[in-house]
Amino acid sequence: MKKNNINLLFVDDEEQFLESMSKRLTAREFNVFSVNRGEKAIEAARKNPVDVALIDLKMPGMDGEETLKALKKEHPWMEIVILTGHGSIDSAVDCTQSGAHSYLQKPCDLEQLLEVLKEAYKKRVMNKNKIEETKMNEMLKIAQSNSPREILRRLKEIDSASDYMYNINY
Ligand SMILES: [Mg+2]
Repeated sequence: MKKNNINLLFVDDEEQFLESMSKRLTAREFNVFSVNRGEKAIEAARKNPVDVALIDLKMPGMDGEETLKALKKEHPWMEIVILTGHGSIDSAVDCTQSGAHSYLQKPCDLEQLLEVLKEAYKKRVMNKNKIEETKMNEMLKIAQSNSPREILRRLKEIDSASDYMYNINY
């Protein structure tokens, strides 16, 4: 687990999809914790640090919305992106009302996914560290024209620096 990578919890019951996407995200500097059930996601989030979660909507047992609610209850700063198949858009919209950051339709393009994960992580860093959007954008200015990956890296630096400051203040 690399310290400067973003910690992503990835939950999907389609194991082939889960495995191939996890590999691609790992190659793009994410620490990916992948599990195939909502119940396992709750456990994984208790044992590992999670910055952002990516959750499939339709799963046997706990579905995406139930998983989302349970995770949010235990980890209020966690931002969650819901993955949905064709024809489940209405339920995905319900998820945003239950606290999901956003939703994406499967199969999704990797660049599009990175863009959404970047926005979700940005929101987490802002909320957790009480940084307002204008200030946040200013802090990201040098990275603004860069790729989502560069911005994600910069966000992680900001987040880690705040953790450090928080620790020495106490
Ligand atoms: Mg599914």
